[in-house]
Amino acid sequence: MSLKERDKKHLWHPLTQHKTHPDTIGIVKAKNCILFDENGNEYIDGIASWYVAMYGHCNPYITNKVAAQMQQLDQVVFSGFTHEPAIKLSEELMKILPENQQKMFFSDNGSTSVEIGIKMALQYHFNKGEKKNILLAFEDGFHGDTFGAMSVSGLSVYNGPFEDFFIEVKRIPVPGGKNHKKIMDQLEKIVSTNKVAGFVYEPLVQGAAAMKMHSKEGLNEILKFCKDHTIITVADEVMTGFGKTGTYFASDQMEIKPDVMCLSKSLTGGLLPMALTTCSQEIYDAFYSEDIKKGLFHGHTYSANPLACTAALAAAELLQTSEMQTNIKRIIASHQSFNERISTHSKVKTTRQTGIIFALDLNIEMDRYGNLRDQLFQFFMERGVFLRPLGNTIYISAPYTVSEEQLEKIYQTIEGLLDTL
Ligand SMILES: *Cc1c(COP(=O)(O)O)cnc(C)c1O
Repeated sequence: MSLKERDKKHLWHPLTQHKTHPDTIGIVKAKNCILFDENGNEYIDGIASWYVAMYGHCNPYITNKVAAQMQQLDQVVFSGFTHEPAIKLSEELMKILPENQQKMFFSDNGSTSVEIGIKMALQYHFNKGEKKNILLAFEDGFHGDTFGAMSVSGLSVYNGPFEDFFIEVKRIPVPGGKNHKKIMDQLEKIVSTNKVAGFVYEPLVQGAAAMKMHSKEGLNEILKFCKDHTIITVADEVMTGFGKTGTYFASDQMEIKPDVMCLSKSLTGGLLPMALTTCSQEIYDAFYSEDIKKGLFHGHTYSANPLACTAALAAAELLQTSEMQTNIKRIIASHQSFNERISTHSKVKTTRQTGIIFALDLNIEMDRYGNLRDQLFQFFMERGVFLRPLGNTIYISAPYTVSEEQLEKIYQTIEGLLDTL
């Protein structure tokens, strides 16, 4: 029996309505930018499997280091114990994180990294004896599927059934230049009647909102406002982190640095699940006390798993190589030329790019999950390209190791699609 047949018996997939969803695709192998399915088909991984495999799948530099670590230390409790891979990783990340980030807290996925960021923001005020119970977030943001993360997310397609159980959140639009004064007025109004503890935001690019991009200057003003009002800024860089925006982190491009940062996705280069919530010394100091209750009483069994730390360390080293940095620059330039080729196509409504993330909106109305969207997906897959359209948005976020030929094939497949619409 095929994988897709056996799968149906016991498995329940994420973000899937099984009654209407087409069959799953059995993948048997992945190498660099190619996924291989059980029928011998190959697909270029145009989205790096949700922006994780940025150094290519099964990158030997990462897998060899993890294989060696497996012989040395697999897992140990991280409360009361420590180990070389975690320490080395923290030292390595200090080289690339924004300067104000000084402490890091481990968990195992993006949602929990946000959950911890939210707890840091709320408890920061609690520890200082102030009751602040409101969070601030962007409309249409996505921060994950646990309750705190869902609360600050704005996409009700995921959150509908749970809305009654959320933390209280005030939402503002993303800054687009023209709406700036309106946002600032809205912020003034929010703080005048609410006790706002923190602002959770995806800097520059909102991934799940179909790669919506916003203004740097506008975001800077909002962050400045937050600083002036002691609102803890929590940058969710789960998607944007580790080079995708052209700098190590999107926050590098901001004048105001966040108090807290959430990292996961390409942290381990896609090899193992892990996440980090990093913070400034000031945040950490608010928890540092003779009073045990002021500590951050949060922990996951697999916190700082040595294998995941080893993978993350290898990934951070790869990111800093001149080879990887050259790749990033090359992809940015390729996307720019592709943009010139297609931005005026009659079926293209708009295009946008931040770093290696390129997105275009089709000139057609479409449901986020629906027939037409599935047809687009099918069109790409039949031609050996794995892209996962979000409604009428097609985006590329391929591994940094993607070749020019592979990129060209992705571009031509998109052009082929435009000509059939
Ligand atoms: C994917 C994502 C998350 C959630 O991460 P998971 O590992 O899927 O829980 C949170 N924030 C952003 C911006 C993301 O892209």
